[in-house]
Amino acid sequence: MVRTIPAKTILQKSRYEPSEWFGVDYVINLYRGCTHGCIYCDSRSNCYGIKDFEDVQVKEDSDVLLAKALHAKKKSGVISTGVVSDCYNIHEQDLRVTRSALSIIADCRFGADVNTKSPLVTRDIDVLQRISWANSASVRFTVTAADDALAKTVEPHAPSSSERFSALKEVSDGGVFTGIMLTPLIPFVTDTRENIEQIVELAHQGGAKFIYTLGGISIRDGQKEFFLDNLKHISPKLARQFKEVYGASYFCYSLELNDILKRMRELCDKANIAYHMDDIIKASKCQADREQATLF
Ligand code: SF4
Repeated sequence: MVRTIPAKTILQKSRYEPSEWFGVDYVINLYRGCTHGCIYCDSRSNCYGIKDFEDVQVKEDSDVLLAKALHAKKKSGVISTGVVSDCYNIHEQDLRVTRSALSIIADCRFGADVNTKSPLVTRDIDVLQRISWANSASVRFTVTAADDALAKTVEPHAPSSSERFSALKEVSDGGVFTGIMLTPLIPFVTDTRENIEQIVELAHQGGAKFIYTLGGISIRDGQKEFFLDNLKHISPKLARQFKEVYGASYFCYSLELNDILKRMRELCDKANIAYHMDDIIKASKCQADREQATLF
């Protein structure tokens, strides 16, 4: 089910500086709620106030609001979408709200930073290419587990990791800057050397230009109960262990983080994949410059 909700504005300034977060200046949230069912979903936290999270809501007239907001800007910037709800959820196939927003971004010569777990983004490679001819375009695929069965446990209704890696390849082959958000890294579940090694290998095969991890998982009120309940279903022992180790912590870093980061960086260095934020932003700008140079 998808419901339409009224919206007064659509474009928000990013709460981070562009240099801190993928060169992003602005954020748009076209949808609220999501059907992927990820057990770790931060958007379920009470602070967002989204009730009936699986009933996706779409913002009314987002295209009109976005066009108006962008025409009023004197300076261009990079706009991120898909952060609090997958902008390629199952309804986007018919609604084409994300595609419409990206087309406006292209027309206004702004840049785009798309976050998704869905191969549906490949439908819009043509628009992303158009964006990259004037600004930067980037697609971040979230992958937390290389193995499809493990991914299904933590992201039960999302497209499989294999589908995401295939989509990554398609986006990369289309000349659009793309990579992996290895976030969250779930302690005791996905923070194994084996998982990280497989993700880097598959990312390399798919043409990823970057892999970025925050090294753990954030846990807030509302989300915490959902996460721990689901973790208990997977393994009561794991849920107990998680509670014992992390208690009321907000950000729960993997206990294996040092080893994992060392290994990830070794493999990324060999494969020429960026993992530091400033290198990722630099690589994205270089790719945009190359795309634009091919036009002349
Ligand atoms: S895809 Fe993102 S918004 Fe959707 S359920 Fe998963 S974590 Fe939440």
